[in-house]
Amino acid sequence: MMSDSPLLFYSSTHRQHNPVDHPEVPQRIEALLEVALAAGGQLREITDWGLSPLLAVHSAGLLNFLPWAYERFSSLPEGPRAAIPDCFAVRQLAEYGASGYIPRTIWGQLGHYCTDNLTPILPGTWPAAYGAAQVALSAAAAVGDRAPLAYAVCRPPGHHAYHDLYGGYCYLNNVAIAAQWLVERGHRPAILDIDYHHGNGTQAIFYERADVFFCSLHADPEEEYPYYCGFANEVGRDEGEGYSLNLPLPPATEEVVYLRTLGRAMNAIVDFRPDVLLVSLGFDTLAGDPQGEMRLQPASFRPIGRALAEAGLPVLLVQEGGYKVASLRPALLALLEGIAY
Ligand SMILES: [Zn+2]
Repeated sequence: MMSDSPLLFYSSTHRQHNPVDHPEVPQRIEALLEVALAAGGQLREITDWGLSPLLAVHSAGLLNFLPWAYERFSSLPEGPRAAIPDCFAVRQLAEYGASGYIPRTIWGQLGHYCTDNLTPILPGTWPAAYGAAQVALSAAAAVGDRAPLAYAVCRPPGHHAYHDLYGGYCYLNNVAIAAQWLVERGHRPAILDIDYHHGNGTQAIFYERADVFFCSLHADPEEEYPYYCGFANEVGRDEGEGYSLNLPLPPATEEVVYLRTLGRAMNAIVDFRPDVLLVSLGFDTLAGDPQGEMRLQPASFRPIGRALAEAGLPVLLVQEGGYKVASLRPALLALLEGIAY
């Protein structure tokens, strides 16, 4: 029984990022915060840790680009509108891939830094993304200070963002920034990604490292975004070999198979002997999610929470996806009950 109530970290700056005709809406996070408070969570002040913890994960090029991209794009003759690339660098096909060259124009840079056309840059995108990273860092600091459970109610999400690429609704990789911050303070984090989609950005950031374990349960990339990674044979490279574990599942997976696979993930995590468990928490595994095909019910998150707690580690929940707003409240409530069980 975990008696302490969860510590909650949240920034209202997320509301400034409000894409039109898009599933990643502010109401998601407002619903999650509301139910976490109703469940006894204690809202804590967030600290502004500045840019340096972001630079420990992301390239200076990406961090110079994102804050100004909307303004630069909007100064084109066509006038203000969401900044979305129309062309992609596909860097492995380009001679400049390894040269450090960065295109000069805003159009060239959009295609250089972005993976897809799903991830618009709007007037409030940078403040929201920056705020979400500070939320994750503040929650990491609480866990580093021995809080048993902290919930970073982050928006926009982060796990599809790479060292120098944004995409998949993600701009900065909140969970990776939190994990790196903990590593620099002597911790040994494991990251469990239970979003419906593979945590490709997080995996790539730690792929050659042995000091952070990354494990993801997700819909098989043969069928689902991000399509090009998240296969079972991706296990890490060089020093990181054996420190990435991918458990792809059929898109229509139901609770029994999901929980069995989660058990495998938790065994591997315990074998790594981490001192903190970071969870990339997606609710897009719920039945009826517009972005997923899995068939978990809100109540499925109670045994999921229990499985997380059984590792006996401090838990840092970092919010990722989940787009069926009506199901978010009961699912988060069940998860928190499961962790506290
Ligand atoms: Zn997702």
